[in-house]
Amino acid sequence: MSKIDFEKFGKFSKPGPRYTSYPTALEFNEEFKYDDYIKYLENGKDKLSIYVHLPFCRSACYFCGCNVVFTSKEDKLDRYVEYLKKEIDILVNHIDTSREVIQFHFGGGTPTYYSADSLDEIVTYIRSKFTNWSKDAEISSEIDPRFFNEEQMKVFVKHGFNRISFGVQDFDPKVQEAIHRIQPFEITKNAVDLARKYGINSINIDLIYGLPYQSFESFKTTLELAFSLNPDRLAVFNYAHVPWLKKTMRKFDETTLPHPSVKLEILKYTIDFFEKNGYKMVGMDHFAKPDDELFTAIAKGELHRNFQGYTTKGGANLIGIGLTSIGEGERYYAQNTKDMNAYEEAIDKGLLPFERGVSLSDDDVIRKSVIMELMANFSIDIKRIENEHKIVFKDYFADALLALNEYKDAGLITITDEKIEANSTGAMLIRNIAMPFDAYMNKYKDNKKSFSKTV
Ligand code: SF4
Repeated sequence: MSKIDFEKFGKFSKPGPRYTSYPTALEFNEEFKYDDYIKYLENGKDKLSIYVHLPFCRSACYFCGCNVVFTSKEDKLDRYVEYLKKEIDILVNHIDTSREVIQFHFGGGTPTYYSADSLDEIVTYIRSKFTNWSKDAEISSEIDPRFFNEEQMKVFVKHGFNRISFGVQDFDPKVQEAIHRIQPFEITKNAVDLARKYGINSINIDLIYGLPYQSFESFKTTLELAFSLNPDRLAVFNYAHVPWLKKTMRKFDETTLPHPSVKLEILKYTIDFFEKNGYKMVGMDHFAKPDDELFTAIAKGELHRNFQGYTTKGGANLIGIGLTSIGEGERYYAQNTKDMNAYEEAIDKGLLPFERGVSLSDDDVIRKSVIMELMANFSIDIKRIENEHKIVFKDYFADALLALNEYKDAGLITITDEKIEANSTGAMLIRNIAMPFDAYMNKYKDNKKSFSKTV
């Protein structure tokens, strides 16, 4: 990549959403009431995607932006399972449990901080309530290789888990020390081998660039080690440094964070490295082998982005269970409370632990489809959007098209009557390119602390 490119990119490094939802979580509010959520649940007819949040971790990884509860007390973990079961009991009073489950995901926290018996208890309970699981349902869990054993793997196999995502982030010992996550390569390798031994043939590895002490050279080694594990998919995330929101991030000496130009160099190398080694880029931060179903989905325009990343299982209602989890339907997002006491209190009263959400207006729905298409496919099929939403694109998005000229002039996108398309360099700035379509961005233009930086 030439020096000129870095100069171009530098000016595009600005705060922006990651668009795992639109409107973003900043727009979730308390005007969206409990009864609104219940109505959406009760009237829903779509297939189901179930997300269960298991928030506990033994210790803090300093880069982590997840909603986590740190504990070493087993009774806390057990108590949470009891509350999860009660939450599910309340939920099933408001939802047609015969709807087909096409996706299930354990996220955290560290789901495998739970013992095999507890994981078994949770999934068995959910399966006893939601009984109509598609035979090709995608059933997955995030796994911290430092907390993973054969007994847990047997439980996953028993319940038909077919995808596993391992958290790695970086293999360099100095980086691992700085981020407070010591995880020697052998631990990750053993975990991957264990999953393979039990027939899991969709293994994902998560990496992060932008962490303290990372350099172009050190990340090259991390990529080579990750590649040696032959994962089916990889997610390579841009570290979101938001110390004003996450206390543990304040532990980083900011002078050790790689400069945006180094991050871009890393990203460019990462894309080239995986493409050279038989992977293809999916969306803004994922890679997969070319025979992966994600690519068939792209060709059919059926790749979707949600809180778990990219998926082929669109069109389902996402049901969030557990502390802080988010549910999503065509016209709403609904989030559970982040506070454990409030979570338990709501459930004790026989209520779902819902806290806030947002009902989507017609305008939100249109913009959501444009932004999600950009985030998934790096392009917008203008005619399809016009047909689906009965709008004249160039009139409806006149302001956005004007704002996009900057990216067009920089040679990052092309705009025709049929299509807006980012090239491979523009794809690295897809968050920037999506932002002109976001009706809420103006509210935050003077608040630099609303989002992480796009580069
Ligand atoms: S990265 Fe994973 S293991 Fe580390 S604190 Fe966050 S959720 Fe816990």
